[in-house]
Amino acid sequence: MAAADIDAFSFVIVSDTHLGRNDGVAPEKQFRQAIAEINSGPADFVLHLGDVVDKARATQYPRYVAARADLKKPIHEIPGNHDSETLFQRHVTERVDRSFDHKGVRFVLFANAHADSHDGFITSEQLDWLTHECDQAAMQGLKIVFCCHVPVHSNRHPDRGWYVKPDNGQTAFYQLIEKHKGRVLLCLHGHFHNGIRGWQDHYQVVEVLCPSLCYNQDRNLEEHLSTGETSGFFVPELRTGYAIAKLGNGKLTLQYKPLAGAVGAEYSAKWK
Ligand SMILES: [Zn+2]
Repeated sequence: MAAADIDAFSFVIVSDTHLGRNDGVAPEKQFRQAIAEINSGPADFVLHLGDVVDKARATQYPRYVAARADLKKPIHEIPGNHDSETLFQRHVTERVDRSFDHKGVRFVLFANAHADSHDGFITSEQLDWLTHECDQAAMQGLKIVFCCHVPVHSNRHPDRGWYVKPDNGQTAFYQLIEKHKGRVLLCLHGHFHNGIRGWQDHYQVVEVLCPSLCYNQDRNLEEHLSTGETSGFFVPELRTGYAIAKLGNGKLTLQYKPLAGAVGAEYSAKWK
């Protein structure tokens, strides 16, 4: 079950745009700048991992949609804890839990954030649907990439400690991954505003938090990783930006693209 049999393609991951944060226009300008950059790049499509607007500000959804209209590639958004489910569905996309197939990979997107919690939640109805999506992908010989705002992977200080707790769907989700190990390549998340940080310790699945396009904060992860206080990986870059993913030929590369800056630091992983 090698990932090597997928021809390489690239896509962009933006997250946590937080339009309207502090009632300012900076986040919208950053989003517009990212769109201009992405338009001139080679990515096939864009994923947005949630917190489209800040604190569910109703006036910001039409502004988000107006800015998005300038993007010349398909974009697929999921809501975060800052999003209003109703407004997100009205303005951004009607169907939130959904999937699409691209060059041998099924991208499965689902909402796992609640407005009143930083933790993530996967309901039993969602687990039924995820199971169906995975079984279908298996029948069609597709690999799987999951996208949800809040990470499933357990974490604690120096990370934020926000994730899908065992009783909130984590245990069942990892059972599903076990059933499809080798087929599930990636779990993509936002929410943490810590740049690119993640783990590869459930089979070969890369579980990764992606940078915020609004602001990122330093959790001293480089230092905590070097002392063995925490595990996983971290790309030492925290400027406002997004990630450019290259997937295929058995390999993943996540390049950190700071807004208005050159691509520098990157993470890469190999699948057997
Ligand atoms: Zn956020």
